[in-house]
Amino acid sequence: MQFQNIKGHEEIKNRLIHSVKNDRISHAQLFLGPEGNGGLAMAFAYAQYINCHHPTDKDSCGDCSSCRKMKKIIHPDIHFSFPFIAKKGSDISSAYLGEWREAFLSHPYLTLDTWRNYLSAENKQVNINVTEAHDIIKKLSLKSFEANYKVLILWLPEFLDKAGNTLLKLIEEPPPKTLFLLVSQNTEKILPTILSRTQLLKIPTYKSKEIQENLTNTYDVEPSRATELSLIADGNMHKAILSLEKEQKGFFGLMISWLRDVVTDNGAKFIAKSEEEFPSLGRENQKSFLLYAIHMFRQVMLYQQNLERLVHLGKEEMSFVRNFSALYEHEQLEAAIKIFEDAFYHVERNANTKILFLDVSLQLVLIFKFHSLPKGAQYI
Ligand SMILES: [Zn+2]
Repeated sequence: MQFQNIKGHEEIKNRLIHSVKNDRISHAQLFLGPEGNGGLAMAFAYAQYINCHHPTDKDSCGDCSSCRKMKKIIHPDIHFSFPFIAKKGSDISSAYLGEWREAFLSHPYLTLDTWRNYLSAENKQVNINVTEAHDIIKKLSLKSFEANYKVLILWLPEFLDKAGNTLLKLIEEPPPKTLFLLVSQNTEKILPTILSRTQLLKIPTYKSKEIQENLTNTYDVEPSRATELSLIADGNMHKAILSLEKEQKGFFGLMISWLRDVVTDNGAKFIAKSEEEFPSLGRENQKSFLLYAIHMFRQVMLYQQNLERLVHLGKEEMSFVRNFSALYEHEQLEAAIKIFEDAFYHVERNANTKILFLDVSLQLVLIFKFHSLPKGAQYI
């Protein structure tokens, strides 16, 4: 997670970078702001910047051995603590590290509700217990393996409850080159004794415009749809992305099924789609669907150009990108994107969508039809 992966908050990024450059890193900092505003991602990007071997004036390099470990969340000197379900008193958060990695990598603006889904928490209580607090002390008392700074990113310290008292001494006098980065949504629920020992950094709520821009630029969402989603999101970037993901899940299923019809030249099926499924979406959704297809094909092209690091997708979509990129050439993908773009233009101008989607299907057949499927080849 680099600063450039987080939308906006430029002044905060500059302030954090400045603190590193001037060697004025405060050993206990509290990143405060409402959920879905990127506080956790910001703490992570800061930790990555601090330990990067070749940082620039604007960001970590993204490519040194430290950055590469950070990217996978496997750096031995960066520790995490977060609310979890303790089935018994001796449980600690490390038991959920796999879920944690998956949740944060898929959702950099992670919220507690989404995290609870990863824990299958339903109505169960999550918290950060005393055993966890002792484990934090143990982890931070170890010598750093390789990094300049050992860092603990503690997400939602408001769930520490009384366990927080155990950490007071460590937060006040940490071992040298040890950092506490606390990420909170509500300081009223944090122990005052912890609050008084940290330096506060307020991260503001996103403006609708920032959310709209992020959806448009990162996910190729049509601007008017991005505006709608951004207004519903109420400043919560995660909420906006989640609504979009839900919508795109349907698009993904339709796109895969359609491509399957096309590569196997199954006329009966793509005619049925052109006559029923596509028209039933309505024009706005047809436009969103075409933009989604363009976005996905661009991801395939990035993957082909070994720019996998720029591709951020869920498991199923990633599997499609991987398989599809192995089967088709750059020129074929480029031609398909042009067809989708032309179709978008015609949907906007009220073309007859039954004829349009049939025509698009036939054009795609010419580009993608398998003359013989490579042995064992699959595109999903
Ligand atoms: Zn680096």
